[in-house]
Amino acid sequence: MRPAILKNPRSLILAAAVLFGAALAIAQIPQIPWAVHDMNRPQPPVVTPGPAGPPVPAPSDAVILFDGKDLAGWTDAKGQPAKWKVENGYFEVVPKTGEIRTVKGFGDCQLHVEWMAPSPAKGVDQDRGNSGVFLMGLYEVQVLDCYGNRTYADGMTAAIYGQYPPLVNACRPPGEWQTYDIVFHRPRFDKDGQVTTLARLTVCHNGIIVHECDVLTGPTAHKARPPYQMHADKLPISLQDHGHPVRYRNIWLRELE
Ligand code: MG
Repeated sequence: MRPAILKNPRSLILAAAVLFGAALAIAQIPQIPWAVHDMNRPQPPVVTPGPAGPPVPAPSDAVILFDGKDLAGWTDAKGQPAKWKVENGYFEVVPKTGEIRTVKGFGDCQLHVEWMAPSPAKGVDQDRGNSGVFLMGLYEVQVLDCYGNRTYADGMTAAIYGQYPPLVNACRPPGEWQTYDIVFHRPRFDKDGQVTTLARLTVCHNGIIVHECDVLTGPTAHKARPPYQMHADKLPISLQDHGHPVRYRNIWLRELE
C-alpha cells in the first residue's frame, strides 16, 4: 500500500512546503570558523581612543541603574543586598562576594556602562582586570584589561565571550574610565522552545564600534558554546565577580521593546 500522501502529488507538495517553512522558522545558528578560545585566532588591531571624559549624561527616557549613590537597584545572586563597595560615585567588585544583578529584568535594550580596570595592573592574560557585563545574565560582553595584555581573541576586552573578538582593541590604560555602549536584541523562542530569532549585539568601546550586529550562537560560556535554551523575555543584567576590584559608574539603559 502506498501512503495516501504519495497518491496525491498536491498533498506531497503541500507537506514539503510545510516542512520547509518549519525549517525556515527555526533560526540558523552561525558557524564560527574558530574553536572556542583558539590562541591562533587573529588579534584585532590596537586603536587608541580619544581621552576619557566625565560620565556620559543619561537621556531623558533612560532607566538609571546606578546613579553614583547606592546599589539599591541591584542584588547578589541570592536576591540579598549587593555587597560590592560604593564610594566616590562608583562601585567596586568585592572579590568573592559573587556577581550582582539588577532587581528588574530587561530584554532588548541600549545599555551604557562605564568601568575602570585596577591600577597599577596586576596579573596577565585573563587574570587582569576581569569582570563582565551579562545581558539577561547569559550573554557576556567581556570586561578585561587588555592594555598591553594579550589573551585569546574571543576573551579579550569587549569580546562577546568565547564567540566574537572585538573588531579592534580600543582599551584605555588601567585606572582610566572606559565606556561600553551596547545595543542588545534578545533571542525569541516559539511555544515549543525552539529559538526563532537569535540574540544580536552591537557594541561601542570608548566610542569605537567593536561589534556590529553580531549574531550569537547561544549563551556565552567558558570553553564552550552551549545552545540556546528557552528563557523569559526579560531577565536581570548581571556584572561578574572574577576576583578583581574592577570599578563601575554611571550605568543606564533605554528599553527598546
Ligand atoms: Mg569576564
